[in-house]
Amino acid sequence: MLSTMQDVPLLISRILAHGQVIHGTSQVITWTGEGEPDRRSYAEIGARTAQLAHALREDLGVEGDERVATLMWNNAEHVEAYFAIPSMGAVLHTLNLRLPPEQLAWIVNHAADRVIIANGSLLPLLAPLLPHLKPVEHVVVSGPGDRSLLAGASVQVHEYEDLIAGKPTTYDWPELDERSAAAMCYTSGTTGDPKGVVYSHRSIYLHSMQVNMAQSMGLTDADLSLVVVPQFHVNAWGLPHATFMTGVNMLMPDRFLQPAPLAEMIETQKPTHAAAVPTIWQGLLAELHARPREVSSLTQVTIGGSACPPALMEAFDKLGMRVCHAWGMTETSPLGTIARPPAHVEADSEEELAYRLTQGRFPASVEARLTGPGGERLPWDGESAGELEVRGPWIAGAYYGGQGAEHLRPDDKFSEDGWLKTGDVGTISPDGFLTLTDRAKDVIKSGGEWISSVDLENALMAHPDVAEAAVVAVPDEKWGERPLATVVLKEGASTDFAALRSFLAEEGRIAKWQLPERWTIIESVPKTSVGKFDKKVLRRQYADGQLDVTQI
Ligand code: AMP
Repeated sequence: MLSTMQDVPLLISRILAHGQVIHGTSQVITWTGEGEPDRRSYAEIGARTAQLAHALREDLGVEGDERVATLMWNNAEHVEAYFAIPSMGAVLHTLNLRLPPEQLAWIVNHAADRVIIANGSLLPLLAPLLPHLKPVEHVVVSGPGDRSLLAGASVQVHEYEDLIAGKPTTYDWPELDERSAAAMCYTSGTTGDPKGVVYSHRSIYLHSMQVNMAQSMGLTDADLSLVVVPQFHVNAWGLPHATFMTGVNMLMPDRFLQPAPLAEMIETQKPTHAAAVPTIWQGLLAELHARPREVSSLTQVTIGGSACPPALMEAFDKLGMRVCHAWGMTETSPLGTIARPPAHVEADSEEELAYRLTQGRFPASVEARLTGPGGERLPWDGESAGELEVRGPWIAGAYYGGQGAEHLRPDDKFSEDGWLKTGDVGTISPDGFLTLTDRAKDVIKSGGEWISSVDLENALMAHPDVAEAAVVAVPDEKWGERPLATVVLKEGASTDFAALRSFLAEEGRIAKWQLPERWTIIESVPKTSVGKFDKKVLRRQYADGQLDVTQI
């Protein structure tokens, strides 16, 4: 029997139409570095979005499901592109500006981007790449920056503001198939070529509703969210879409991502919520300790992208900024789990902290299972550790294969029955809380047992002299692999590996057999393009003998 319900497609243009009318006075505030920030209402953004769509179609000839790329910071124009491109039926392709240039070129060519909208401040990155970007015909430039860098380029260059000026402020958005492509994002690919994940209108719509749920971020139009997580990193965790559904105001840092301007933004604009990866928060914390600011407006902080070290969570709690830990991937849109403790847990208790430090609970639409080394299903008992596999309406089921017959590329990341194999190893408690112990490729396999590099890092970062620490597996004749601890000391602290090792052993923090014998001091932990610890660089440096290792 068929239902009697209307079959209305879940489209990005619906989210836009809702935001610009129902929440027309909500704002996108973009930091400009000097003077007053740029303030734009959702109503204005809606009108400019229509103008941009007209310009793309009529002046640049964007048709059908062509990809339109953005090479932009988080700002109001990027939000306009977020809505204009998919609403008109084209595909928004956000380019990760921190990728090595060769990878960026590979991605643009693979996605066949014909148009790139770029921030002027990123032209020093884009201009030398252009000769290698075969499909690109148009570059639309927005915001300050030296346009002369594009002189002589064999593309047509347009000014964003000139292009949209005078265009109609409404657009007859097409009624698309909700399953068609809306946006794409390539994984930051630590090995091999990057892989394209293509989100549908439907997946983004449903994901946005989840982001807005009280047990997820649960923000309202009374909130101002500081969106530090880049718009090129999994659609800024879905925030720009989710905020247009609920009228949450957005504070966009543009290119001012250093701790000092972030602290100034918080003090002067008074956001209530912020979202970023742990490395950003580590930097902000050091800044706030060095130069205290009035930051009491900021009461909710979403941390994800890599594990939130307990010391970081506790330090932020002390500042009145309550951390909410979440897990996800480019392939999961990204919301996979979020750590809101169950209601029965006593506030501010040890038990509550333990729940908050897990990666969190699965929402209703994300199914999960754990697979052991032999392919066996493992129980949700909080102890059996296996690879996490997930399934759901906003989880990828294939990668983009490029244009042509092989449009979707199967990959061994997907099980035969269609689940995503996350490559993350962990346990799930009977009440559905995920605790990740490692990436499958980072776990240290010592004498047939597994050592969690994350546990060692967290324990090290709890030491008062340690600013940051990364632990990697290195070959060992006797045990196969052993941990190498690479440590960044806080300013003024002196090296005492024996003391650090005893600290790890104290109070049962780390089992004796797991304690590292190999230690080294580094200036900073190498980071990936999205701010995560880049352990392959450390492994390579060790293999090349570039690290000064002490054995104790
Ligand atoms: P990306 O696709 O670049 O966002 O990377 C996804 C990966 O980041 C996941 O597979 C995890 O390994 C890692 N990750 C994301 N969030 C967390 C978290 N809260 N704790 C631990 N690892 C995380």
